[in-house]
Amino acid sequence: MSEQGRVVLVTGGSRGIGRAICLALAEPGGVVAFNHFDPDEQAAQATVAMLQAKGVKAEGRKFDVSDPAQVNEYIDHLVNAYGRLDVLVNNAGITQDALMVRMSLEQFERVLKVNLIGTFVCMQAAAKVMMKQRGGSIVNVASVVGQTGNVGQANYSASKAGVMALTKTGAKELAARGVRVNAVAPGFIETDMTAAIPEKVAAVMRANIPLGRSGLPEDVADVVAFLCSPAARYLTGQVLHVSGGLYM
Ligand code: NAP
Repeated sequence: MSEQGRVVLVTGGSRGIGRAICLALAEPGGVVAFNHFDPDEQAAQATVAMLQAKGVKAEGRKFDVSDPAQVNEYIDHLVNAYGRLDVLVNNAGITQDALMVRMSLEQFERVLKVNLIGTFVCMQAAAKVMMKQRGGSIVNVASVVGQTGNVGQANYSASKAGVMALTKTGAKELAARGVRVNAVAPGFIETDMTAAIPEKVAAVMRANIPLGRSGLPEDVADVVAFLCSPAARYLTGQVLHVSGGLYM
């Protein structure tokens, strides 16, 4: 951790769980940078304003997590501007649901590209910086369905299972350089991603959650903040399920 506060990069920080993670990692004197994909800058600008209100330096940039040139260019910019990178949270993710027999190869590939290849590309770029500085924390956002599978989500569940395996491999490769790599696996969290689920289906999903409610973005963000904190200094290679007990 730098004297001025940590330099943090969160992918997909413009809204939903990513925005809550940005806010949970905002600390006085620190820097919170995030990216997003939609050319409409409104949500990103709102996140920047919320972060600045918390007294941190904030910046949001539009680029695709799965494009290595743009990812490397942005991480270089952060290191040049702020001297280091302490935390990377790979949160950006998409769904393109369909039953497996009807899923196109394009649907399968696009979800794998953003969720799994995007996580790999960002981890690789950040790891080079963190290994040199001999410290850092990476948290990947997986999903309970990476463990359980889910009807209509062959692409998404496979991508999230891959994220879990990538987390463990990263943890093993980077531990000797003081870099910890962990993941959270959220259950059913109220965001734009789940807003499209018909209320009837959502009610059944909620009824299956032992803690009796769907999750809020902050429920996930608080666990990510813990994983990035000194309190988690002896944790690496772990996948923490944040699902109200949906998965145990
Ligand atoms: P969301 O509300 O749809 O937000 C997704 C975020 O990712 C947005 O900031 C979006 O940017 C960004 N994004 C999408 N594609 C991108 C790309 N190619 N490059 C860069 N940024 C990109 O989703 P969410 O529900 O907060 O989900 C966040 C993470 O949690 C995802 O990895 C998701 O799979 C995971 N998760 C969510 C749930 C849930 O119940 N919500 C459960 C388990 C896991 P724009 O705003 O510019 O589009």
